[in-house]
Amino acid sequence: MFKEMRRKERELSAQEAKALLSACEYGILSTVCEDGYPYGVPISFACQDDSIYFHCAVTGQKLENLEKNNKVCFCVTGETELLPADFSTRYKSAIAFGIASEVFEDEKRNGLKLLIDKYSHDYMAKGMQYVDEKWDRTRVFKIDIKHLSGKGRA
Ligand SMILES: Cc1cc2nc3c(=O)[nH]c(=O)nc-3n(C[C@H](O)[C@H](O)[C@H](O)COP(=O)(O)OP(=O)(O)OC[C@H]3O[C@@H](n4cnc5c(N)ncnc54)[C@H](O)[C@@H]3O)c2cc1C
Repeated sequence: MFKEMRRKERELSAQEAKALLSACEYGILSTVCEDGYPYGVPISFACQDDSIYFHCAVTGQKLENLEKNNKVCFCVTGETELLPADFSTRYKSAIAFGIASEVFEDEKRNGLKLLIDKYSHDYMAKGMQYVDEKWDRTRVFKIDIKHLSGKGRA
């Protein structure tokens, strides 16, 4: 069901796509609204193995969408550079399709730890204290990646 990339010469290897996904600062999480509109929101995230973790508040549009349909698409872009004279852009991007599910207890803590390690690496101890303080007001989700592609224009 996942389509092949048309421009094969621009396809990144699986390793490059994974590396780009892990390194990007934020990504766009797309879910589907009840009325069929797609809904893309920028979020922070962290990767482990074939999963993407993100955290959020306890309510909101994206959570309502996920309750009805847990299929998601997650997109990141990196290493972009405008090439005005060529009417083009140098870029790398990755798109993951997957299934999102909420994680609890130890896996929730692990997801939050991954986020702190990525975004506040020098503040791990303080970060885990922050996790405890906000525990009940935070939900953590894991996207189990079913298909990942990467594309680059040199
Ligand atoms: C770089 C970056 C990192 C972020 N990291 C996280 C994160 O890790 N976790 C997290 O939960 N949120 C994060 N956010 C905020 C996120 O983009 C959403 O605003 C937030 O998650 C609320 O989403 P919601 O579906 O609950 O919206 P709701 O509060 O339910 O709002 C509903 C409506 O508000 C509008 N809306 C919501 N968010 C945005 C937005 N970002 N921009 C414009 N309109 C909006 C839309 O029209 C939407 O239909 C981040 C934002 C940025 C820019």
